[in-house]
Amino acid sequence: MTVEIDRNSGFCKGVIRAIDGAERLLAEGGVLYSLGAIVHNEAELARLRKKGLITVESLDVAPASLLIRAHGEPPETYRLAREKGFEVVDFTCPVVLNIQKSIRESWQQGRPDGQIVIFGKIGHAEVLGLVGQVDGKATVVENLQQLQDAIASGAIDLARRVDIFSQTTKSPVEYEELCAYLSGRMASDGLLTIHNTICRQVASRHRELSDFARRHDVIVFVAGRESSNGKVLSELCKSENPRTYNIGSASDLDPSWFRAEDSVGVCGATSTPKWLLEEVAVAIKNLH
Ligand code: SF4
Repeated sequence: MTVEIDRNSGFCKGVIRAIDGAERLLAEGGVLYSLGAIVHNEAELARLRKKGLITVESLDVAPASLLIRAHGEPPETYRLAREKGFEVVDFTCPVVLNIQKSIRESWQQGRPDGQIVIFGKIGHAEVLGLVGQVDGKATVVENLQQLQDAIASGAIDLARRVDIFSQTTKSPVEYEELCAYLSGRMASDGLLTIHNTICRQVASRHRELSDFARRHDVIVFVAGRESSNGKVLSELCKSENPRTYNIGSASDLDPSWFRAEDSVGVCGATSTPKWLLEEVAVAIKNLH
């Protein structure tokens, strides 16, 4: 059996920046909270917890340094944190910051008729941060069906200006389908502006991962249960290679998935650390 780790898998730049920043601050000492999980990966969270990073889900704790993760936050969070006396250390990914700015500008330019539509996971931290830029006045759709429902119910009015954005980690193919549908249904040309906001690193990973999944007999996809990007990428692998198995760590491996002559590909999400992929690859080699 041969085992190859996908060289393009592992943390994206935004996550690396936030984790490096957290480790630097932890080395300096003092209390450091992360508002929400800094990365959607249980194993990496456990490693950072050992170094002292405390994950909190609300600001109902004694004020200290407060890390804003790569997903970003709505303006209200910054206001509340400062009001409560937290020292905010902002590691929002620069790509996300640009999208937040673009949503605010589009909203301002489109007033009073403009509508903001976001293709993303309802309730996802990044999406909440985006929606918060326009005081919640955006329509979030998770798929084409929800877009069609929003049009049918009048939540999206096709006779008025629409600016559509995507969460950074959504599928580029699905976003294209959604935009094509919307474009075909708008009452007149010029009313729709499509913002190309899927992260470039994610978009290229889609292409590379399709090739990688086809090249191997078996794919082991490593990601945390909460990883939105993990769900999208593992489905992509499954569509290219039916022998795709999703795991959270090496202990989830099942020897019956593999044959002695198989070539096995190990890959993961933008939230999967490289060290975990290496651990899984070693465990697979040790199975036989
Ligand atoms: S996926 Fe892209 S946009 Fe999102 S945090 Fe990573 S680098 Fe930034």
